[in-house]
Amino acid sequence: PNPGTFANAIDTDYSRSELRDRSVRALEKVRAQLGKTYQPLIAGEYVTTETTKNSLDPSDTSAVIGIVGQISVAQADRAVAAAKAAFPQWRRTPARERAAIIRKAGDLMEVRRAELTAWVCLEAGKILPQADAEVSEAIDFCRYYADEMERLNAGHQFDIAGETNRLHYQPCGVAAVISPWNFPIAIATGMTVAALVAGNCTLLKPAAPTAVIAAKIAEILVEAGVPPGVFQFVPGRGATAGDRLVQHPDVHLIAFTGSREVGCEIYAKAARVQPGQRHLKRVIAEMGGKNALIVDEGADLDQAVAGVVTSAFGYSGQKCSACSRAIVMAPVYDTFCERLVEATRSLAVGRADLPGTAVGPVIDAAARDRIRDYIAKGKQAATLALEMTAPAGGYYVGPTIFTDVAPDATIAQEEIFGPVLAVLRAADFDDALAIANGTDYALAGGIYSRTPDHLKRAAEELEVGNCYINRGITGAIVSRQPFGGFKMSGMGSKAGGPDYLLQFLEPRVVTENI
Ligand code: NAP
Repeated sequence: PNPGTFANAIDTDYSRSELRDRSVRALEKVRAQLGKTYQPLIAGEYVTTETTKNSLDPSDTSAVIGIVGQISVAQADRAVAAAKAAFPQWRRTPARERAAIIRKAGDLMEVRRAELTAWVCLEAGKILPQADAEVSEAIDFCRYYADEMERLNAGHQFDIAGETNRLHYQPCGVAAVISPWNFPIAIATGMTVAALVAGNCTLLKPAAPTAVIAAKIAEILVEAGVPPGVFQFVPGRGATAGDRLVQHPDVHLIAFTGSREVGCEIYAKAARVQPGQRHLKRVIAEMGGKNALIVDEGADLDQAVAGVVTSAFGYSGQKCSACSRAIVMAPVYDTFCERLVEATRSLAVGRADLPGTAVGPVIDAAARDRIRDYIAKGKQAATLALEMTAPAGGYYVGPTIFTDVAPDATIAQEEIFGPVLAVLRAADFDDALAIANGTDYALAGGIYSRTPDHLKRAAEELEVGNCYINRGITGAIVSRQPFGGFKMSGMGSKAGGPDYLLQFLEPRVVTENI
C-alpha cells in the first residue's frame, strides 16, 4: 500500500431514490428478524448460557431487538483458554493472509451495508445517515488496519558493516476488546480487527445495549475466515465477565473504549500482576470528553451556529466528540445565544428510523435519568435558555441549552453524554482558551474565528487530541483524522491513524554479527 492513498468507503447518498428504497427494504427485513436469540461464540461454537439479556429499541421500548446470551465467569475462562490454544497458529499465519481475511470482512460489511445500517438505527437509536456513516467507518477500519499491518510487517533495518540489525513486530497474545454502545459497529469492529490483524487472538465483549450488532460483527468475521478460537464473541456483564477478562493472567492486552470511571478501573486492575502471569498487560483506554467549541467575535456566526448545533445535538449528544460547551466571546454572546436557540428549536426529535428525525432517543433509561439529573442541576446553577419537549414511547430527552454557565459549574465540568449544551461567556481570547482547557478532559474541540492569531493559538494551545478549525467537531474519518485524546480522555492511541497498530504489537530486534 502507498501511504496517503487510502480510499475511504463512500456513504450512501440518500438523495437517490433507489438507495432510499433499499434502506426502507432493509429496515423491513431487520424488523422481521427482531426478538431472535444470539449466543456467545466460544472455541468456534455457539454456546448456551445461564442468563440472557434483552436488547431494546431505544426509540420504542416495546420492541425487543434481540435476546443475548451472557457468558459466565467460567465461560470467560474457557474462551481465554481457547484463545491461548489458537495463538501459536494465528501468530504464524502470514500478515498478508491475516490482512486478506480482515479486508474480506470489510467487503462483507459493504455488501450488507443497508442491513447493518438498519440494525444500528434500531438498536442504538441512531438516525439512518449517521448509522450509514458508522458502517463506512467500520469498513474503513478493516481496510486501513489491513494496509497498516502489511506496512509494519516490513519492519526496519539498521545495518552497518559487519552487522545486520532487523526490527520486526510480533503479536502480543490474547486480546480482550471491551467496547461501548455509542459507535456499536465502528468502534467494536475497529478495536477487534486491529487486534486480529496484528496476530492476537481476540475476544470481543460488547456493551450490553448494542450486543446484537456485535453478534453481526461476529457473523461477518467468521464468514470472512477468522479461525475458531482466534476470534470469540463473549457478551456478558461488564462488572463480572468483563472484569474477569481484564484480570485473567493469560490476557496480554485490553483494548477498551468507554467511560472514564470504567477505564480508570481497568487500568488499575490490569496493572496488578496475577498469580501465574508472566507479562505486563497493555491497556489501551479511550474515554470521555467535555468538548468545547470557541466562538470569537470575528466568527462567521451562521457557520458557528450550524456547527455547534450539529456537534452538540447529533446522535443526541452521545458522541464522545460531541460539543457540550460553547465558549463565546462577550461581544457576540447575546446574538449567538439567540440564534443558537432558534436553530436548535427547529430540530425534529423522534424515532431514529423516521426520515425527518434530526435527534433520536438516548440509549437507555439509566442514561435518560442521568441526563435529566444534570438538567435539574443546570437549572440550579445557570439560565435555562431552551428545553425542548421529549416525545413518549422511547428514551427521549429534548435538546436543552443553558446560558450564563460558570466554568466550574457541574454541567461545565462533567461529561453529560446527552443533548445538553452549556454556553459560557469569555471576556477575551485568553479567557476563552483558559475555560476550554479548564477540565480534566482533552478529547475533541475547536474554534470558529477569522482572526489568524486566534486560529494559530487555538491550534497550538487547545488541549485536545482532535482540534477542528471553522467546522463541527464530530465525525473523524479513518486515515484523515486519527481519533483519540489525552489527559483523562485517553492514552493518545489515535484510532484510524498510523500509530494505532503499534499498541497491539511487540517489537523485537535481531542483531547478527556477519
Ligand atoms: P461504559 O459504561 O464504560 O462501558 C464500556 C464497556 O465497558 C461496556 O462493554 C461495559 O459493559 C464494560 N464494562 C463496564 N464495567 C466494566 C468492568 N468493571 N470491567 C470490565 N468492563 C466493564 O461506557 P459506555 O456507556 O458504553 O460508553 C460511553 C462512554 O464512552 C462515554 O464516556 C464516551 O465519551 C466514551 N467514548 C469514548 C470514545 C473515545 O474514542 N475516546 C469513543 C466512544 C465512546 P456493560 O455494557 O456490560 O456494562
